[in-house]
Amino acid sequence: MNSMIVLEEMHGARNYHPLPIVLVRGEGVYLWDDEGKNYLDMMSAYSAVSFGHAHPRLVKALTEQAQRLAVVSRAYHTDQLPLFLEKICRLTGQDRALPMNTGAEAVETALKAARKWAYKTKGVPRDRAEIITCQGNFHGRTIAIVGFSSEKQYRDGFGPFPAGFNSIPYGDVAALEAAITPSTAAFLVEPIQGEAGIIVPPKGYLAECARICQQHNVLLICDEVQTGLGRTGKLLACEHDGVKPDGLILGKALGGGLLPVSLFLARNEVMRVFTPGDHGSTFGGNPLAAAVAIEAINVLVEEKLASRSAVLGEYFLRKLKTLSSPFIRDIRGQGLFIGMEIDPAKASARTVCEQLARHGILSKETHETVVRFAPPLVIEREDLDWAFTTIKEVLAKMKPLVSAA
Ligand SMILES: *Cc1c(COP(=O)(O)O)cnc(C)c1O
Repeated sequence: MNSMIVLEEMHGARNYHPLPIVLVRGEGVYLWDDEGKNYLDMMSAYSAVSFGHAHPRLVKALTEQAQRLAVVSRAYHTDQLPLFLEKICRLTGQDRALPMNTGAEAVETALKAARKWAYKTKGVPRDRAEIITCQGNFHGRTIAIVGFSSEKQYRDGFGPFPAGFNSIPYGDVAALEAAITPSTAAFLVEPIQGEAGIIVPPKGYLAECARICQQHNVLLICDEVQTGLGRTGKLLACEHDGVKPDGLILGKALGGGLLPVSLFLARNEVMRVFTPGDHGSTFGGNPLAAAVAIEAINVLVEEKLASRSAVLGEYFLRKLKTLSSPFIRDIRGQGLFIGMEIDPAKASARTVCEQLARHGILSKETHETVVRFAPPLVIEREDLDWAFTTIKEVLAKMKPLVSAA
């Protein structure tokens, strides 16, 4: 076996099950392994690499800022963070932003903001605030967040969990209305559920949720860590429903595929609950992260990546839907955020991913049954055509599982 894989198996915690490939280089939509084999990246590191690998403008912003000033903590102002905050607030229409690093930290920030807002502004009795979440959600891996996951493995062995969360079926407006109580602070939702397997809710779902939340004085918080920044064909997936949430969470692509950068954004009325000392992060908002994020936003806007995602996503989805394979149970998505559901009686999504990798396409299964196609948004139509042909060939060559019966 490959010596790097052996070394990782020997010294690493076993919390991942990677495909047996050792990547050494990336450029644009392509990756290379240690044997020089070339792959098309249809995974983009769970959308963290929406701009492609080593985007020249982003690498330039990173190296220039790294040579000037990288990390000073929030004990001081810098000449980068204010520009980043102004830019992202303008772009999203939110009043204020609080910078963190990973997506999970920004989600935690949103939960803290929602609770404090419930006590200080809404008048919920002390320690009674409730936050409604959706079944199938993925918001990260902290104790609080896995505590409200419906995924058994994410929770198993990690309790006890914080109280104050309850969950409802995703895509069900009536369930939201029924779950709201006078103590409800917020409804936390992904506009499209990513890790659940690219689950697209019924048309108009988010707009209805927004209406119900407003009616009951409940904050609508959209986790766009994965769906945001062009992935679904709009700057934000909320825009498909014309919704401006009360709280917005961004991450992944925000760091340009180079650094972890995340944000919680909100209206003044929500964000003002934080006062100095309430919350923070040593690395959050550092000038290196801010400089890269500023350039990432510039690239997103100037290269029109959201509309590129819309056009190419629709093109690729339409092509995939022409596939008639016994393995495919469903194909769905929005923009370049596409899930191909595999019939588990015929094959595992893992096997499909392994076969695709052998043929030069990198993806990753989610939930045993779904293969995700979410390439960098800078991908060209020719690459998608090649991917389509390859996927078609791989599926045609695969033999269905024979049941043990
Ligand atoms: C990936 C993801 C997160 C967590 O982000 P990390 O950077 O891994 O902590 C949160 N929410 C959604 C919707 C995600 O897809």
